[in-house]
Formats: sequence, structure tokens, C-alpha cells
Amino acid sequence: LLTLNKELALQVGKVYPPTEYRNAGERKKILVTGGAGFVGSHLVDALMAQGHEVTVVDNFYTGRRQNIEHWVGHPNFQLIVHDVQEPIFLQVDQIYHLASPASPPHYQHNPIKTIKTNAVGTLNMLGLARRVKAEFLLASTSEVYGDPEVHPQPESYWGHVNPIGPRACYDEGKRVAETMAVAYQQQEQVSIHIARIFNTFGPRMHPNDGRVVSNFIIQALQGKPITIYGEGQQTRSFQYVSDLVSGLMKLMNSNVSVPVNLGNPDEYSILDFATFVRDEVASDAAIAFMPASRDDPQRRKPDILRAEQLLGWTPQVPVREGIHKTIEYFRRELRLDMSLNAL
Ligand code: NAD
Ligand code: UDP
Repeated sequence: LLTLNKELALQVGKVYPPTEYRNAGERKKILVTGGAGFVGSHLVDALMAQGHEVTVVDNFYTGRRQNIEHWVGHPNFQLIVHDVQEPIFLQVDQIYHLASPASPPHYQHNPIKTIKTNAVGTLNMLGLARRVKAEFLLASTSEVYGDPEVHPQPESYWGHVNPIGPRACYDEGKRVAETMAVAYQQQEQVSIHIARIFNTFGPRMHPNDGRVVSNFIIQALQGKPITIYGEGQQTRSFQYVSDLVSGLMKLMNSNVSVPVNLGNPDEYSILDFATFVRDEVASDAAIAFMPASRDDPQRRKPDILRAEQLLGWTPQVPVREGIHKTIEYFRRELRLDMSLNAL
């Protein structure tokens, strides 16, 4: 493998991360929409490492070129800057459909765009899947459960979503995306998979995306007050990104078409999580209580029995280990930022 990689590097003058060799028969053509984002770029790394041909479709709305630039120029990799709101024709075997802003400040910034991306964008990708007979996987979300009245949340729970609240553009967008996927399966025999993803963190989160893990780590590293929205009694359960990627790949390569929760059931109150992050960073940052966000779900924890039974999947990375990797990532990013500012 190393020899192959070296030969390639000599040809194009660039060293790529190692990839498995696959002959044409075993190599799949895989489309990852949203592949320049946080989760998408890790998925792309895993698929490329397995030796597949990967096409990323992304409009860089919230994603970054630097997340995938290590693959640019590799013969198995293609980047298409494109908005999924517009149709596209590509000959592929599998479609991982991740394109959508994911953090509350991002998806609430332009609610109409969020709705169009999730509704029209998903319709376009399902149409492509039908046309080229590709397997389709939807990156759905625990937000389909809204502010849940059932705890932990199994896939059988229908949810509790305010259809006109500030989160609705995303929650209802993902709910209709699920509805469309099931309609394409039943009416057009498209092979579908639905991953209901719970809060995921790790390197390559956008430093400004406003999610709790990136906010708290950056605030702790900079010694700035850690901002808690409300009293911090609301809970979330956090999963490290490599676990999510392995779950997505297992789901895509299974015959499971019912929705599957992918998350780590390790649940924290946001106040406890703030002190946990502050301790792991060894920071003396203060805690600042801010106004609560409207319609903020009060409890969230996945029931992952289905993923365990149908996919043989369970999260492998303890939250503390994942947080350490993420802290190191943001430490490097902030140092880089400081040295750029000093230029
Ligand atoms: P992200 O914002 O880092 O990545 C989303 C990517 O989609 C970005 O690269 C963005 O540029 C791209 N995109 C957005 N709108 C697009 C459009 N109209 N056309 C083409 N590309 C577009 O977010 P993420 O955390 O990597 O999330 C990826 C997917 O997983 C999303 O669908 C999200 O809803 C889902 N998800 C993520 C989490 C999580 O905790 N990270 C939780 C639940 C669901
Ligand atoms: N949150 C917070 N401070 C922050 C960012 C988020 O207290 O700086 C809270 C937010 O109100 C929510 C939880 O942390 O209760 C998770 O927020 P996030 O934006 O990460 O994702 P969500 O699960 O709400 O989509």
C-alpha cells in the first residue's frame, strides 16, 4: 500500500493519506453531499481509505475546503461545488446525503434556505438515486423527536416538534426528508437508509458554528466565560465523530431501511458538561448564565438497541477520550489563528 501511495505521490507531487487498493469490481462510486462539512469530511476520509471513488457535492455554505483539501488531486476523489437545491446527474452506486446546515445558529440564520436544502435538496438526491439505482442514506437527526416527552428516545417515538418555532425549519425539514425517503422506497423501490444522528463532536467542527462542544472548548481555552443558555439543566448525549462514521457505513451497507438512532447514550446536563470541559482543559474560565433558547429540547438521549441488534454497532470512543482529541484540535486551530494574526 505504501509503495502504491509513494508512486502516486511521485506522479502528482503530493503525499496523500494511505488508501487500500481495490480493483474496479470492488470499488464503489460514492457520492457524499455535504462532504466538506464536519461529519462529511470524516466520512470521506474513511471511504477514501477503503479505496472507493468518492465525489463530494458541497456549496461551502457551512463546510470548508480545508476539511477535504488533503484529497484534492487524488485520482479517486472529485469535488463538485454545487447546491443540492439544483438537480445534478452523476453515475454513482451509493449516496450519503448529508448536505444541510446542522448547528442551531447556522440553520436559523436563513430558515428558508434550510427548508429548501432539506426538502428540495433531498428530493433531488432521491430522484438521482432512483434514476441511477443508487443506495440512498439520509443523515436525519434526533431533532425529529423535538422536545421529547419520552426518555430515552427510541425510533418508535413520533416526536414533539413545534411546527412554527425557531427550530422548525430544521426539524420539519428533516422530518419531511424522512417522509420523502420512505415514499421513494415504497413508490419507486429506491433502497433507503435513515440515520437519526444525535449530538456529535470532534475535530473539524467549525469554530464559529455555535454548538455547545465547540463553544465550551474554545471558551475554556481562551479563559472566557463559558456560556450556558438557561440554567443548564437541559441534557444532551455526546458521540465522537469516528463512531458516527462507522455507524453510517454499517447502515449504508446493511439491508436496514427503518430509521436507526446513532448516538452515544452518555448523557450530561449542560451545566455538568461545562464543568467537565473546563476541568479537562484545566481552565479557570467563569460560568456565565445566558437567556435560554426558545424551544430548546430539555432532555435528549438515544435508545440504541436497534443499532446494536440490527447493525452490531455500539459507540467505542468514551466521551472523555473524544473531548481530549477535540481539545487538542482546537488548541492547534487557535495557535494557527494567532500566528496568522501576528503576520
Ligand atoms: P456541517 O455544517 O459541518 O456540514 C454540512 C455540510 O453541508 C457543509 O459542508 C455545507 O457546506 C453543506 N451544505 C449545506 N447546505 C448545502 C446545499 N444546499 N448544497 C450543498 N451543500 C450544502 O454539519 P455536520 O455536523 O457535518 O452535519 C452533517 C449532517 O449530519 C447534516 O445533514 C446534519 O443535519 C446531520 N446531523 C449532524 C449532527 C451533529 O451533531 N453533527 C446531528 C444530527 C444530524
Ligand atoms: N448551549 C449552551 N451554550 C452554548 C451552546 C449551546 O448552553 O454556548 C446549549 C443549548 O442551549 C442546548 C445544548 O447546549 O441546550 C446543545 O446545543 P447545540 O447547539 O450544541 O445543539 P442542539 O442539541 O441544541 O441542536
